[in-house]
Amino acid sequence: MSIKIRPAERINNLPRYLFAEIDKKIKVAAEKGIDVIKLGIGDPDQPTPDYIIKKAMEEVQLPRNHTYPPDEGLAEFKLAVANYYKQRHNVELDPQKEVCVLLGSKEGIAHISACFVNPGDINLVPDPGYPVYSIGTMFAGGEVVSMPLLAENDFLPNLSAIDLKVAERAKLMFLNYPNNPTGAEASPEFFARVSEFARKHNIIVCHDQAYSEIAYDGYKPISFLEVPEAKDVCIEFGSLSKTFNMTGWRIGYAVGRAEIIEVLSRYKTNIDSGTFKAIQYAGAEAFNNSAREGFQAQLSAMYQERRDVAVAALQEMGINVRAPKATFYIWAPIPAGFASSADFVGHILEETGVVVTPGRGFGAYGEGYFRIALTVDAKRMQEAMDRIKKALANR
Ligand SMILES: *Cc1c(COP(=O)(O)O)cnc(C)c1O
Repeated sequence: MSIKIRPAERINNLPRYLFAEIDKKIKVAAEKGIDVIKLGIGDPDQPTPDYIIKKAMEEVQLPRNHTYPPDEGLAEFKLAVANYYKQRHNVELDPQKEVCVLLGSKEGIAHISACFVNPGDINLVPDPGYPVYSIGTMFAGGEVVSMPLLAENDFLPNLSAIDLKVAERAKLMFLNYPNNPTGAEASPEFFARVSEFARKHNIIVCHDQAYSEIAYDGYKPISFLEVPEAKDVCIEFGSLSKTFNMTGWRIGYAVGRAEIIEVLSRYKTNIDSGTFKAIQYAGAEAFNNSAREGFQAQLSAMYQERRDVAVAALQEMGINVRAPKATFYIWAPIPAGFASSADFVGHILEETGVVVTPGRGFGAYGEGYFRIALTVDAKRMQEAMDRIKKALANR
């Protein structure tokens, strides 16, 4: 007799997989022989640059790299992150105490709540937002209080709308700029206001800067740590995934106040044993030689061309869309005549084979929007836009 499998409440309470329905439709379309264009998932279509692969291959061959990595992370990688902060953001970091290596930034974002949140504590979470902020909170027994990101506020949370009682109970505030899914950017003034708010209410700011190096029209995204004294209240999560086309490698980092980094490192030491040393060396190489290779500029130029194609086409269709200054996403209101973002996305997929993401997948305040990932080349993007235009005209 087999036993009855009873998942924990935290598993049963996971939000239903919104994309299951879309996945089903993609399968049906593919079976019909439709040429599906995937603009849904935010996974770069281009390979990891050669200079990083070359370094990884050298390091993989060395037996000294085949053992457990050091608990505190590889000094070379942490130094590379600190140097990047100095050069790019003019922020000084102690590579030993203020940098922590992660198995991708998602891992750190998911675990930070376990480090700081007791049952009944509140985390302030942007809506729409990357789902991991809420899921990590829930797994720790914390309560999610949404901070709506509205177009009228340039997709920045309105701090004065946060209830004082909520602020007093809040442990963490998650922020993400440049923002997924809205493509919005934050100003130094906004970050300064957040820093002041956090200080006043004793809240740790968890800033996710996964898209810090993908930016257009000369715009340079800022780090939360550029705000004077921000380090006192902040942990900032960074990722090599999007900025170096390394999503599969699973390496990221957190930086910020030493006591916060120490707690996250201590937690991690007890549940994982770190990232493969060869990958940490490759990650260091990614930062150290990025300027020499001119990689970041090339990457942004590539996405910018795709962005321009998509934005121009959407505007021609009468969709009121803003060209993002950063990230590889376009966040657009669904055209009139559709009941919901899921309705629009389902219709477009069935009629055209183009996959985009319904805004509702990122939270209640994402309803009424859809997200396009710029993860196909400009020609294919034009093809996707032509198909959508035709489908909307025939409606
Ligand atoms: C992709 C993404 C991440 C995760 O990056 P990894 O380093 O691959 O774990 C984190 N935050 C946001 C907003 C993302 O879009």
